[in-house]
Amino acid sequence: MYTDAGKEIFLNKYTIKPLNTGFVSTNKANYIYHHSTHRYYDVSGDVDLPVFTFYVEGNGRKILIDTGMAPTEIANKYHHKGSYQPEGMTIYEQLEKIGVKPEDIDTVILTHLHWDHCYHLKRFKNARFYVQKKEYEFAKNPIPLYYKSYEYPAIGIKPQFEGVDFELIEGESEIESGIYVYPSPGHSVGHQTVVVNTGEGEYHCCGDLVFVYDNFKEIPEIHYTITPPARFQDIVKSWKSIEDCKNRVKGKIEMVLPTHELSLVNRKVIG
Ligand SMILES: [Zn+2]
Repeated sequence: MYTDAGKEIFLNKYTIKPLNTGFVSTNKANYIYHHSTHRYYDVSGDVDLPVFTFYVEGNGRKILIDTGMAPTEIANKYHHKGSYQPEGMTIYEQLEKIGVKPEDIDTVILTHLHWDHCYHLKRFKNARFYVQKKEYEFAKNPIPLYYKSYEYPAIGIKPQFEGVDFELIEGESEIESGIYVYPSPGHSVGHQTVVVNTGEGEYHCCGDLVFVYDNFKEIPEIHYTITPPARFQDIVKSWKSIEDCKNRVKGKIEMVLPTHELSLVNRKVIG
């Protein structure tokens, strides 16, 4: 609830179900923790990170935030070796388990267009699709460094977003009453965070703004206000976006839902 010119406005409330679509194999030192922070963390070895999407329901609407990763064969061949999608964990199978058909989804909001966030888009036949304009434009014509991330046709594969009719957003924007997006660039050019109002307050579905909650931690000894990730497109923007998110949730990190945070495996329904 907030007031606008003295008038009280009640925002709709939703519930959020994290749905895991598989695991991406990552190296802690090369992916999660920036090299300048390595002596403050255990960065040895690899870790399989989950790939969450968020199913949002309320006000008669069925909304999906990201649609998850590719099947094992593609994940392994084109992306991170060792990544896998266990049987029955595609986004449409995970939805089916909670009684939702792909055609029931009204709205799909994408944090960004990397391969592990936008699979099977065309199954959502009745949905409107939202993404930042900057992200869409870069994804269609990336530099070769990002050909794999966006499944650019030159590598012999078709991007999942090809032919999808997007609503292109520029900057902060309300999607529904109680749901809005704000830009959080740095991991990718036009990355955005989706805020969902619930009975427990506003949750920030932040995609890959951070990979794990550790990325929000300060390191006072070296004056760091956050722990930057090792993988980014623009480290200055990434740093500022992470600080911005931390400020928006007033330091309550549990109100942020990152795509790859392991502890979300234990969160069933939120809000
Ligand atoms: Zn990701």
